[in-house]
Amino acid sequence: MVLAELGGKLRDSLRKLHTRSGRVTTTQLNSVLSDVARALIESDVSVKLVMTLRDNVKQKVERLIEEDDDDNDDDNDNDAKKEQRASNVSKMVQKAVVDELTSLLEPARKPHTMKRGKPNVILFVGLQGAGKTTTIAKYANYYQKRGWKTAMVCADTFRAGAFDQLKQNATKLRVPFYGSYTQADPVAIAEEGVDQFIKEHYEVIIVDTSGRHRQEAGLLEEMQEISAAVDPDNVILVMDATQGQSLYDQALAFSNAVDVGSVVITKLDGHAKGGGALSAVAATESPIVFLGSGEHFDDLEPFNAQSFVSKLLG
Ligand code: GDP
Repeated sequence: MVLAELGGKLRDSLRKLHTRSGRVTTTQLNSVLSDVARALIESDVSVKLVMTLRDNVKQKVERLIEEDDDDNDDDNDNDAKKEQRASNVSKMVQKAVVDELTSLLEPARKPHTMKRGKPNVILFVGLQGAGKTTTIAKYANYYQKRGWKTAMVCADTFRAGAFDQLKQNATKLRVPFYGSYTQADPVAIAEEGVDQFIKEHYEVIIVDTSGRHRQEAGLLEEMQEISAAVDPDNVILVMDATQGQSLYDQALAFSNAVDVGSVVITKLDGHAKGGGALSAVAATESPIVFLGSGEHFDDLEPFNAQSFVSKLLG
């Protein structure tokens, strides 16, 4: 992940606030906030989101500066005191940015919690190439290792080889799977597979879906039909971090079609800048549950908003 650049830019910009008087004018604050906004957009955070974040940070910092001014009598300030005050303002801005980014990544909706001894049907959706099938294998591996009775269903009948890919992963992981080479209706496969694994008392039943269709609207319709047929306990949207600015609209389209409850961001081990993760959360109003950090089954990291933001800012 090439996130640390953002931290460097933020620190450079905050130096502008170290004025001789220790006072910060609105123009100086605006200039710093514009730098921060530019750096966030360059890190792939959606433009709309950055504007909201900038306004929130501005309001918060202006309020804090006012309170700080009320407590200080500047006529008697010595240089050390002025420097201290400038450094306080810098810290205020930095903290407000960190807090805003963290709270964006912690939406009100909480992630689904798996229930022991019950079927937890987890539907995976996302565009082809996002890393859905790979993530499903990692996810199955994660829960199976922790003692959950886990199974996978392949309801992607569009992509040639999708069932083989899932089957290969499932075999390596020794996870039971369901799919068909002959049945062309993904809704029927999803329903049959989930029913079978519920009867067999599986606890984590993962459904892979298609990421492509003859038409985009067709894909979203198919997701709705599968979702209605299997009544999932959670819908997880898988998104490729390298898609950058387009993640917001992509996430919104899926979220408008099905009840996305969690997000997984993949390919953060590569050159992705990571800001798209914030856009995905904002568009779906759902938390990120895992990050994909490679092509192996173990390359799946539980998500933590605070540590993500500290990595983002270097
Ligand atoms: P799907 O079409 O959404 O099912 O995508 P796949 O699971 O087939 O993944 C598409 C490509 O992305 C494959 O080459 C995967 O190995 C790769 N991939 C998936 N997740 C990650 C990840 O977290 N990091 C990296 N570097 N590659 C990934």
